[in-house]
Order: sequence, then C-alpha cells, then structure tokens
Amino acid sequence: MSLPSPAAWSPVVVTLVPYVPGEQPKIDRLVKLNTNENPYPPSPRAVQAIREAAAQGLELYPDPDATALRRAIAARHGLALGETFVGNGSDEVLAHAFFAFFQHGAPLLFADVTYSFYQVYCGLYGIEPRLVPLDDRMQLDVDAFAAAGPCAGIVVANPNAPTGIGLPLAAIERLLQVHPDRVVLVDEAYVDFGGESAIPLIDRYPNLLVVQTLSKSRSLAGLRVGFACGQRPLVDALERVKNSFNSYPLDRLAQAGALAAMEDEAHFDQTRRAVMDTREGLALQLEDMGFDVLPSQANFVFVRHPRHDAAALAAALRGRGVLVRHFAGPRIAQYLRISIGTPAQCEQLVRALADAVRTEGSA
Ligand SMILES: *Cc1c(COP(=O)(O)O)cnc(C)c1O
Repeated sequence: MSLPSPAAWSPVVVTLVPYVPGEQPKIDRLVKLNTNENPYPPSPRAVQAIREAAAQGLELYPDPDATALRRAIAARHGLALGETFVGNGSDEVLAHAFFAFFQHGAPLLFADVTYSFYQVYCGLYGIEPRLVPLDDRMQLDVDAFAAAGPCAGIVVANPNAPTGIGLPLAAIERLLQVHPDRVVLVDEAYVDFGGESAIPLIDRYPNLLVVQTLSKSRSLAGLRVGFACGQRPLVDALERVKNSFNSYPLDRLAQAGALAAMEDEAHFDQTRRAVMDTREGLALQLEDMGFDVLPSQANFVFVRHPRHDAAALAAALRGRGVLVRHFAGPRIAQYLRISIGTPAQCEQLVRALADAVRTEGSA
C-alpha cells in the first residue's frame, strides 16, 4: 500500500488534528462503557420502520429536507418546521454550524474541558479557539465567558462532556445576552438524562442554536441522526451550508427510523429513566469505593480516585473485560469517564474496579 504523497495534500490537511473516537472493539463480550452509547436497544417501532423503509424505495433518493422527521421534531418541541434542521449525526450539524456562524476573524469561546470535536472543527475551518477555563469545581464559568471580549460566538455542551455537569437556564440566558449578534450554540447531546433544555428560549433569542442527537437518549448511535433548533435565519444559514455540501445527509432508513423513534415517547421515557436510576446507584457505589464522582446529568459519570492513577485503572479494567474512556488531556488525566450501562454491566464494572483498586499499585 502506498501512502498518499504529502505533496498532493491540500496544505490545511497537514495541519489537521482529527477527533479520536472511543474504541469500537472487534471482540465480543467486553462490557462497553467507553463511548456513551445507550445500553438499551432503540424503540422496536424504529426498527420496524427501518425494515419497512428497506423493503421499499431504496432505488430512489430520500427526501432532501427530511420533512416528516423535522415535523415530528418541531411538534415535540413546540417549534415551526422552519425552525428545525437535521444532519448525519449531531457531529455533522455541529460542523455545519461552525462553518455557518463562527468564521468572523475573532476567537470562538468554549470551555477548556469540553467535547473535543469543537477544537477539531476549529482546525478544519480555520477558526481560532479561545479556551475559557472551567472553575475549580469543573463548572462552567459564565463570568469568564462574559468578560472574554469580542468573539465569533460561544459553544457550550449542556450538560457538559466529559464532566456531566449541567448549567441552569439562567446561565445560558446570560451567555445569550453578552453578544446578541453572535450565535451561542448549546450542544444538548445529553440533555434527556436530567438536564434542562434551552429550546424554550428560542422564541426570545435569535442568536440561540440548540443541537441535539438521537444517538444517546434514543439509542440510535448507529443510525446517525442529529438536529438543530433555532430561529429561521439560523436554520436558513445551516440549509445553505448543507446544500453546498451534501443534499441528502439522511438516507431513507435513517429518516424512517428517527421519525418512529421520535414518536415513541413511552420507550424514550422508560429507557432514559432506567439510565438515570442506574447512574444514581452507580455513583453511590463508586463513592463508597473512595472515588470522587462529579454530579452528572448525563448518561455517564466522570470520576477520579485520590490514590489510583486513572490510566492504570483504565488499563486494568480493560484487562478485566471492561472498557471505559480515559482522556490524557490537561486537568482531566486523572479522571475516568464511565458510560452508564445496564444494572448488570454496572455490577461487572464495580466488581472489576474493586479488583483493580485492590491489586494495582497506588499512584
Ligand atoms: C455524542 C456527542 C455528540 C455527537 O453525537 P452524534 O452521534 O454525532 O449525533 C455531540 N456532542 C456531544 C457533546 C456528544 O457527546
């Protein structure tokens, strides 16, 4: 295999630092708590709708506007159709939003500890990031954002990743008021696990864009569907970018499955409640083992042990068949991010962790 010659690369490609997704192991029987997937299967109605869509019409292009799906999203959130936008996973929606709103020759503000894809999109689109440090309790520092001066916009994950900590709506409102002519993007990938959505603020704030995903709370990480909500001019900008890139980001199966999933409120409620209940139990067990557990409103917990090195613990867990996520970055290198599994998976985690803590050397 010959590698592409760097001389053929566009210069910007040489400078890219791509996102590194969590491991998707090829081995079965691992307890997979490393990429914040939902441990429960998606709505059976979604699976049925995908089957029906597969049996019919795949020779034809899908609806480029995903109208039926967007109607369902709009209805659920009390918005107009034109206030919704969908994409191939919320990562794609985020990418289009970065391109559409944050290229203003000024820095884009986001927290020093947050979803690492924001930095990656800055690299892709030549946006200068300005990292605003979380405070010493790992909470978003709204005052520091307000004091940061001119900017191209603000991105916050709420609840934040990988901390799991949520911001109250009053804090989001303050951010919206600092730079009324700049977009505040609120990434609500985890909001259904106990956070407070900013969607009700859309009416009053033309600079608010809320992004959500069906990957986590609707158990559809494999289908790749995300969406954005905001006033029409923001959605129009996203449509312009999308239709300059790929007119058909959601295939027929994705549109059908996502629509059915949005309509199955009972399944959604039951599974997200199960995840939240399990989270509370797991947090107590981890605290009993001596871990500091950040207060989580997400489908994961972010924990550290005062006497055990996080990288060593992650490796020890892997050796015992349990995958968790360890990030080597500044401030968080001693934390583990553990996705909430089924109660049985969490029991396996606790057993493996107890064993690892007992047998690994202290840091
Ligand atoms: C998982 C995640 C996303 C991306 O989700 P998609 O699967 O691309 O929809 C976006 N933001 C945050 C903070 C996430 O954790």
